[in-house]
Amino acid sequence: MEIITAVRGFKDILPKETGKWQYIEKLAREILADFGFREIRIPILEKTELFKRSIGESTDIVEKEMYTFLDRGDEYLTLRPEATASVIRAYLEHAMYSQDPVARLFTIGPMFRRERPQKGRYRQFHQINAEVLGLDDPRTDAEVILVLLQFLMRAEISDLRLQINSLGCKECRPSFRKALSDFLRGKEGQLCKDCQRRLGANPLRVFDCKTVDCIKIINDAPQIIDFLCPDCMDHFTKVKEALSMFEIGFEVNPKMVRGLDYYAKTTFEVVTEHLGAQNAVAGGGRYDGLLKDLGGPDIPGIGFAIGIERLISISSLTDEKFFAPPQLFIAAIGDRAQKLAFYVCNRLRTIGIQAEMGYGGKSLKSQMKRADKLFSRYALILGEREISENKAEFRDMRQGTQETIVLDHLEETITRIVKGS
Ligand code: AMP
Repeated sequence: MEIITAVRGFKDILPKETGKWQYIEKLAREILADFGFREIRIPILEKTELFKRSIGESTDIVEKEMYTFLDRGDEYLTLRPEATASVIRAYLEHAMYSQDPVARLFTIGPMFRRERPQKGRYRQFHQINAEVLGLDDPRTDAEVILVLLQFLMRAEISDLRLQINSLGCKECRPSFRKALSDFLRGKEGQLCKDCQRRLGANPLRVFDCKTVDCIKIINDAPQIIDFLCPDCMDHFTKVKEALSMFEIGFEVNPKMVRGLDYYAKTTFEVVTEHLGAQNAVAGGGRYDGLLKDLGGPDIPGIGFAIGIERLISISSLTDEKFFAPPQLFIAAIGDRAQKLAFYVCNRLRTIGIQAEMGYGGKSLKSQMKRADKLFSRYALILGEREISENKAEFRDMRQGTQETIVLDHLEETITRIVKGS
């Protein structure tokens, strides 16, 4: 009978990789805490309506990538494809704005999108998300970008490029939309089917399209950056000024619209050549207006998401760095020795020493081979003869030296040596 494998696009994170994952997550928590962010944990499942209303009906995500099902025949639910909508939902549901006008929130966890799996693109992937709610100051945009870059740098990601853009606001977007629609008029037939269909709902989506024909057409299209109202223009200038204060280099990419409808004003992406086609490791932007659209007060917001799989695939951190070998390996020959080893091994574990022991029935040679393979720092060798003489051999696996120790106060002796090294 064949074994059952994981679902396509869903990936196991194996023990040899989890050390790095834990480190990355810990690093994110530490740096975000330095910048005043607090963790929020939100459900993986939400009402479908939440994503339709926030991400936008005409986006790839909502049109074809969501895992949606009818729950017991009466309600459509969706596995979250991103975190911002859920964070905002929770923020509004708990009226968090009434406790503090500014909230800095972060969350780490899996997201689900039914995309075509390829290198760097999965159907379940993980993100670190950070959101700042309640501040519309352009300096906040720079601060959010700063924390993101600070984290990526500390996670040992090199050759990063920051791209920024402004998508304008409700004031300037209509004139741009009109100019874009005028430009695309007559060219509809050359666009892909998706873009043709989305033209009426949101012509901006053409900028996000990956088909060669659409890219060719959009190359000469008007750009939102030339249509910004004075307020948006001023905001964008101040974001750039604030970035310069921290000597953060950036490129303005006027074609970057990002794949979600809720963005307004500043958007950004961090890209790197090392990722190939899926070149963005992180992205985000401002979404003033989203909270109001979701039925809440008119509170501004900005945030970003980092893809952990992509981050780990390009980080110079090595797996070995996070591998913690046992401090002590106990090799035991014979029943009495095995019994004592079992007791000592577990006693040591309860006082914080990482101990392992050899399996009964194996020769001393094969047990010591395993101690070597596990890179154990020390080994305790218990044989029948040693026990009857109230002794054991204690080996420093790194130095290759060995001494005889007495079994009285064994735990104390081992603790002293292991903790002292
Ligand atoms: P987005 O929410 O689309 O702005 O994506 C933010 C980040 O999440 C991207 O820059 C990627 O690093 C990561 N990401 C998005 N979609 C996927 C996916 N299907 N597989 C792996 N990582 C992804």
